Amino acid sequence: MSEKDNDIIETDTISEQDKQNREKSHKQDADYEDVCYLCRRPESKAGKMIKLPNNITVCQDCMNKTLETMSNSNIDYNELLKDVKNIPNIGNISFVNLADLQHNIPPKQKIKKTKPEIKKEEPVIDIKRIPAPHKIKASLDEYIIGQDYAKKVISVAVYNHYKRVASNTMDSIEIEKSNMLMIGPTGSGKTYLVKTLAKLLDVPLAIADATSLTEAGYIGDDIESVITKLLQAADNDVEKAERGIIFIDEIDKIAKKKNTNQRDVSGESVQQGMLKLLEGSEVEVPVGANSKNAMVPLTTVNTKNILFICGGAFPDLEDIIKQRLNKQSAIGFRAELRDKYDKEKNILQFVTVEDIRKFGMIPEFIGRLPIIFTLQSLTRDLLIKILREPKNAILKQYQKLLALDEVKLEFDEGALEAIAEKALEKDTGARALRAIIEDFMLDIMYEIPKDDSIGRVIITREYIEKTGGPIIDLRGADVTFSEMDHLNQVEGGA
Ligand code: ADP
Repeated sequence: MSEKDNDIIETDTISEQDKQNREKSHKQDADYEDVCYLCRRPESKAGKMIKLPNNITVCQDCMNKTLETMSNSNIDYNELLKDVKNIPNIGNISFVNLADLQHNIPPKQKIKKTKPEIKKEEPVIDIKRIPAPHKIKASLDEYIIGQDYAKKVISVAVYNHYKRVASNTMDSIEIEKSNMLMIGPTGSGKTYLVKTLAKLLDVPLAIADATSLTEAGYIGDDIESVITKLLQAADNDVEKAERGIIFIDEIDKIAKKKNTNQRDVSGESVQQGMLKLLEGSEVEVPVGANSKNAMVPLTTVNTKNILFICGGAFPDLEDIIKQRLNKQSAIGFRAELRDKYDKEKNILQFVTVEDIRKFGMIPEFIGRLPIIFTLQSLTRDLLIKILREPKNAILKQYQKLLALDEVKLEFDEGALEAIAEKALEKDTGARALRAIIEDFMLDIMYEIPKDDSIGRVIITREYIEKTGGPIIDLRGADVTFSEMDHLNQVEGGA
């Protein structure tokens, strides 16, 4: 082998090693990210960095700010930089030799990237192998109290819907879409039911308020914005969005306006506009923005497999139903008392399509929501159950918080009844519960951690009604105090 050959082999091995080294440093580099030299924010927070000589990286914000300040201020840079050697000075423009500043610059301006947590939660229900309706209902039961009928209807509808989506082999028999209309008083769990369902199925959910929707071109969100919301909930994944759920709340607010000669842009027109979405159509929506404009890319979403659930309290519907029922019962052979239905609490359960039409929903709209069901207003007993039974019940949450301080929190039966009674007075269903509890738990959460000797707190009806205090048990000893004031004495004595 000639000397020349040897040389070549050597260069080859060196370059191979060099390559490996370079790859290694590349790999290491991938684990690190640049940090802005000025504001110290890493690339993941401040966005793409501008690379300057000597390993200096500056974020776009700081660069813009610097340029802005320089152009706005009247600072004499020549004066400022006169200490730095060898600055060529051409009129008003100065050049700074970055090498002169180098002693201040750390050699590497990178921080280790925090790894995104790759923890994919398994969905409780897999929509490709959708479980039987009774299993879906059993999962809902863990969170939602009462409303058995609603849970049953929704379980069957969802089961049919996703079976239709998963099979997708309909020949001549096209299974109808199971869009739903849910009628129930405020705070009876309409939104909660849909939210829980979407969580169990692990499908994206968009919740929109019908009151904010108007016909396209008028002030307000146009109707297709609900699809944009769903796309956002699906992280811009069109395929995922196409099997999501859209919940449109306050649907009763887009009823046809009565006695109006003007164009009904937020009522009947919205219903008209929603028809094609409910049925299934291709909609062009902006990606990553709320409105269509020239700067935003558009994508097409097919709404054929999106499950639409509309919900509303329909406040005057009860009167319409009562009128019809009373009229029916007062006519003919089996005539009954005229006011037989006046005292019926859950009159909504007798609703028919005709009643909803009378309320102001147009027939085409109701026709596209084939599944109509009602939720009951919550009774005192149901409210008590809501307080303590669901998987994430409010009481359980407080108990867990105090358990961290090794204090046992208990509620006696009277206390629960008192809370439920107070909530009933507010007439906002289960929504009132949290506000009431937060009100009286504030003192407890403030006072208890002050004193290490407290082992147990029992909330009583008297405490809720503000006529007495909770029962406080000390750790180890069975001493019972009945007034919250004792807390301070205990603390003073300790
Ligand atoms: P709305 O019917 O007005 O949409 P929500 O679903 O928003 O009422 O209910 C408000 C809150 O009340 C929910 O977040 C939930 O915590 C609680 N809640 C309502 N109904 C129930 C129920 N049946 N079971 C358990 N919690 C409920």
